[in-house]
Parts: sequence; C-alpha cells; structure tokens
Amino acid sequence: MEKDKSWAAVLLKGEQQPRVRRKEINRQQLLLRPVEVEKLVDLGHPVRAIWELVVRLNLEPFYAEIESVEGVAGRPVWDPRLLISLWIYAYKDGVSSAREIARLCEYHPVYQWLTGLEIVNYHTLADFRIRHKEALDQLFIEVLGVLSHEGLITLQRVMHDGTKVKACASSKSFHRKATLEDHLRLAREQVEQMGDPELEELSQRVAKARQRALREKQQRLGEALKELEQIEASRSKTSEKEKARASSTDPEARVMLQANSAYGPAYNVQISTDAQSKIIVGVGVTQASADAAELEPAVDRVEANLGQRPKQVVVDGGFTNQTTMEAMTEKQVDMIGSLPERSGVVPNRLEQRGVSPDFYPQAFEYDRNANGYRCPAGKVLAYETQERQGATLRHRYRAKASDCRACECQAQCCPGAKRGRSLVRSEATPEMVAFQAKMETPEAQAIYKQRAGVAEFPNAWIKDKIGLRQFRLRGLTKVTLESLWACLTYNICQWIRLCWKPQQLAPA
Ligand code: SF4
Repeated sequence: MEKDKSWAAVLLKGEQQPRVRRKEINRQQLLLRPVEVEKLVDLGHPVRAIWELVVRLNLEPFYAEIESVEGVAGRPVWDPRLLISLWIYAYKDGVSSAREIARLCEYHPVYQWLTGLEIVNYHTLADFRIRHKEALDQLFIEVLGVLSHEGLITLQRVMHDGTKVKACASSKSFHRKATLEDHLRLAREQVEQMGDPELEELSQRVAKARQRALREKQQRLGEALKELEQIEASRSKTSEKEKARASSTDPEARVMLQANSAYGPAYNVQISTDAQSKIIVGVGVTQASADAAELEPAVDRVEANLGQRPKQVVVDGGFTNQTTMEAMTEKQVDMIGSLPERSGVVPNRLEQRGVSPDFYPQAFEYDRNANGYRCPAGKVLAYETQERQGATLRHRYRAKASDCRACECQAQCCPGAKRGRSLVRSEATPEMVAFQAKMETPEAQAIYKQRAGVAEFPNAWIKDKIGLRQFRLRGLTKVTLESLWACLTYNICQWIRLCWKPQQLAPA
C-alpha cells in the first residue's frame, strides 16, 4: 500500500511539519549568458520587415553627409540604415523620444536585435532625426517608389485633409508685444549678469546648462517678437493687430481650433492619401488655421513626390472655394468636395447693428427698371459696385444719404449710418454653379461618401498608433520633419500589412 505523504496525513500522525522545498533567488551572482542575437525576434516580427525594406532603399543622401571616411582619422559613425530603422520601429511602437529609444536599446530584445546589442546614444538619435531634411524627403519618395511598384498607388483618386496637431507649447506661453518685450529685456539682463561657469559654485555642467537655457530663452523671445510682427502685418484692422500674440515657447505655433473644439497652440498637418490602398502620397505642415488655401500646394507636393498629379482630389467644404476651383481646373485635376457651409452672419450682423427685422433684406423689392432695390419707404437703392468674395459675386446697392437722413425710419433701418443704407445681393460664380451641379450627381455624391473613410484613416493611425497628438519638437521646420517621420512610418506599416512576407533565416 502506498505511503500517504500529504500534510494532512503528517499532521494527523502528530509529526513535525516538514520544511517546504523552494527555489532560492540569488541576486548576488554574476552570470554570463550566451545571446544568439538573431533569435531575439521571431521570423515574422515587423522589425525584420523594417530592416529588410530600409536596406533595399537608396540612402545615398544620408551617406553623402557623413564626414568620417576610411583612411582619415576619426571615429566610425552609426550606420544611417540602423538609425532610420530605430526611428521607424520606435514611431511604429508609439515612442518618439530619443532618450526612450536609447533606454530601450539597453534591454528590449527588438532594439537589441536592431543594434546587435549595442547602445546608441540619445544625442546621436536626436540629431539624426532633425539633421537630414532633404535626405528624409528623398527617403519618403523612395518608399513611395516601392509602394507604387507594388501597385499600392495609382493617383486615380486622392483624398486630402488637414488635421491639427498640438504644438509643444502651452496656451499660457502666448503673450502680447509689451509682455514679450519685458521678458526679453529681463532675459538679456540675466545673460549679461552671467558669470564664468568655471568660477560658479555649482558644478560646471549645471552652470553651463543654465547659461545655455538662458541664451535659448533669449533667442526664443527674439523670434517670438519677429513672428508677432509677421502676424500683425497679416492683419488689416488696427484693433486686430493690437490683439496679436505669439508664443514665447514655440514662436512659430499658432492658436487654432482643434478636434476637441478647444483653441490652443497647434500646427495644421496636411495629408494627401491615395484612395487605392490608403497610402500617404504627400505631407506638409502649415501655420494657417484654415484649410482654404492648402489644396493647391498639396497637389504640387504629390506631383513632386510621384512625378504626376492626381486625376481626382476629394476634399471637404473647408477647401471648396473659387481660387482652389480655378487652380484645380488649370491643373486639370477633377475636384470633388462638399459645398462650403453657409454661416448665418448676415442676420447676426444686422442684429448687432440694431437693424429692425422689418428692414432686413427681404423687405426690399427689386426694381428692374431702376436696376436697384426699392426700400419700405419707397426710395431706390441704386447699383453701386460688384466684388468677388470666395466663390460668390457680391453686388452692392445703396440709398442716397440725403434720403435716409430725411427718413423717419432711419433709426430702425440704418441706425447711426453716415452714408445711405446698403444692400448686398450674392450670386454664385459660373464655376461654383458648375461645381454645385456636378456635386448634385449621384456619382459625385458616392465618391464624396468615401472621403472620410480614406482621408481620416491615416490621421487616426498617426494620432492613435504612432501617438502624434502633440509635437515633441518646436518650430515649423522641425515639426514638419516630425510629421514626415510619422507619415513615413505609417506608409511602411501599410507595406508590411499589405505586401511583406517573412523570409526564412539563412543557415548560420
Ligand atoms: S432709411 Fe433710407 S433705406 Fe431705410 S427706409 Fe428710410 S430711406 Fe429707405
């Protein structure tokens, strides 16, 4: 009969409780473990796809900028293929900090596989991300070439949209001219009072860092004042000029209405997406809050990247205006878009001016013989002028000042006006009429319905998966580079998703 060794049996017999056999943890020991770097990641891991694609690309523009060459004194540099792969994989993983990548290189198997267990300094990574603007543009085009070769880009239909990305600045960093000048004066005084870092009581490193921070602050404040001058110059009304503000943290950022319906410092990222496979074929960043003037440069970017214009572009109402329509006609690009939303400004403005509803435009009758409108008091508002505003022609009619001054209804019709009452008749331009007719066809409406699904897919991917909800860098040039890295990563992710097949490991 088998011997009962359970605790209960031992206790029943009244024997002493035996000690549990357990594994001891020894944290004092030193271990040497062999690491087979190639086995750190699976064959189907996307990092292999990134490396496989990057080594296929022509990276000559990156190599051309390297000064360390064989036969000359100097240290070898990190291979651009490695630095590009590290950044692409990090962005894919939602990591956009050079310090974080350097940390990951110390312990993360994927980063260790890429670097062959080496650790890349974060300065090297940070500098590489912003130092090679032209080479990065070329790399984006190279990847588009690969995707085009795979049949993922046709340019038959391109959906274009803009998305606001928060700047690396707070709303509180926006100041008016007087405040910026005060801060700049203070910063200059502090810089002048700075002593020799070698004589400081603090460590030299800390003292130098403080001095560098002060100089950078002074430089940023100077740039903010220059930006403020530009903002003021772009405004016509004196009252608007006085309200102009610039950020002392990121002078090139602008206050924009963002997706959460809140105003804050941001940049407007313009993304053109090919409808065939949702590949980004053009990316740009602008300081303009409105999208109205952004379609033409976007089409030019696509042409510069791929050597041809899209056959058709699909946009929302923010891009639909007379100038853009004319530009697309000239470029022979078919434009599909919603009509701009009509705002209720006219009644609001009349109400603000104190005009009684009995004297709103509908109370005035058109008199064909007089080529003007007849007011409720029977006076004629004669044709005065015609002006073009967006996709509409505005015809203005005006009453004689003497008629209105003598009129007992003036207080309700045009209170406080020094000139006679005016009236504006808006008329769509022929181009807008043709566009409206096209957009009423079922074909155009069916195409337009696809817009949100295609255009907003990369926006959502870049913000949710890559994590580009807020820029980490400052200034228009650097945020453009950051956007380019994110869009490049997005395109490579699509290539992995749609085309990549893991290869077999070569025998050791
Ligand atoms: S104020 Fe001038 S426009 Fe208005 S009702 Fe009198 S005359 Fe006509």
